Amino acid sequence: MSFQLTSEQEAIREAVREFGENEIEPVAREHDENKEYPEGIRREAAKYDLVAPTIDQEYGGAGMDLLDSVIVTEELWRADPGIGSAVGSAGFGTSMIQRFGAEWMKEEWLPPIAAGDAVSCSCISEPAHGSNVAGMETRAERDGDEWVIDGTKMWITNGTVADVAVVMAKTTPDAGRKGISAILVPTDTEGFEPTKIDNKLGIRASDLAEINLDGVRVPDENLIGEEDEGFYQLMNFFAGGRAGVAAQAVGAAQGALDAAVEYAGEREQFDQPISEFQAIQHKIAEMATSVEAARSLTYRAAGYAEEGDRELGMKYASMAKLFASERAVEVADEAIQVFGGAGYVTDHPVERYYRDARITKIYEGTSEIQKNIIADRLL
Ligand SMILES: Cc1cc2nc3c(=O)[nH]c(=O)nc-3n(C[C@H](O)[C@H](O)[C@H](O)COP(=O)(O)OP(=O)(O)OC[C@H]3O[C@@H](n4cnc5c(N)ncnc54)[C@H](O)[C@@H]3O)c2cc1C
Repeated sequence: MSFQLTSEQEAIREAVREFGENEIEPVAREHDENKEYPEGIRREAAKYDLVAPTIDQEYGGAGMDLLDSVIVTEELWRADPGIGSAVGSAGFGTSMIQRFGAEWMKEEWLPPIAAGDAVSCSCISEPAHGSNVAGMETRAERDGDEWVIDGTKMWITNGTVADVAVVMAKTTPDAGRKGISAILVPTDTEGFEPTKIDNKLGIRASDLAEINLDGVRVPDENLIGEEDEGFYQLMNFFAGGRAGVAAQAVGAAQGALDAAVEYAGEREQFDQPISEFQAIQHKIAEMATSVEAARSLTYRAAGYAEEGDRELGMKYASMAKLFASERAVEVADEAIQVFGGAGYVTDHPVERYYRDARITKIYEGTSEIQKNIIADRLL
């Protein structure tokens, strides 16, 4: 693996950075304060292929590989994690449709999602089952040529704005992970009832919901992939998903670092810029080193996941997610310290990076779960 990005990858970074600086950064604080989903920005981002960039070109996407898409995620989150999350998760679940779905599903749903006209969500977690995915209780039962789905999904990103959902449900209840299937559910189906969760610590521009599934009926053909294979189908995307969350963390940390560097050059105390104090210089040096180490591990994880080496992909993705998310919170914390009192209020973005970065230690598997996965592969 090369440690240099190609000129095409550098061009992707430049393009997303420009989009972030022009379209996202100026309105980031406002969206956070108003907890406002950035519908217009998402539609605009789609014109530049920044929404679900891994959707194949034949379905209207950019057909990016994982490393390219990780760069997109990193830059969106550098501009602002809340809006970055809303834009970057607009195609959540499309990997499952693209890899395992029937042709009609791909033709019906992937083009509008890539174009920014539709949004998807991925419904895995439940109120009583988060880390323990295999324990899920949502049931999908056959009734004639339909599936009937009952249960409750919790913490679903895009839950109130999505047009289509990939719902994971038990089709053979007593079989644990061997009894789970993935089912495509248009969100206007009767019985699909989202309730918005709007008291989040961070990524407030991103939509989140609890979803009650009350006798939701969809045709038999909405099964994605094989019956009872849903958990294993999902496993194919954990490495990519975790590399993606690591990229979110790298982006948030880079944003906090950039803000701290700029402020350190401007703020004066004792008749000199605070950047001339060695204490501040050392903070910045440590922050920058953390960001670069996290970025290297993230790109490496994306490389292994892309190559399809499942074991290496899982191990490195967990390492990258663990390391990058823990460092991101530390870096944002130190950025607040560089700002002093000004870092503690919403006038500057560092308190937002701190709140926003915190989610990366929780979703797509908590830090504790990542350590379990890494240890399982070593011991
Ligand atoms: C903003 C946000 C967006 C989200 N988006 C989605 C989404 O789009 N789709 C979706 O399906 N889910 C989503 N989630 C859910 C997320 O993936 C879960 O919150 C996460 O997996 C943890 O599950 P839990 O909250 O039930 O915590 P729990 O599993 O109850 O964990 C509680 C604590 O126990 C620890 N713990 C649990 N099991 C173990 C173990 N075996 N070993 C050691 N420690 C353990 C955990 O690390 C944690 O510290 C989202 C969550 C949030 C907050």
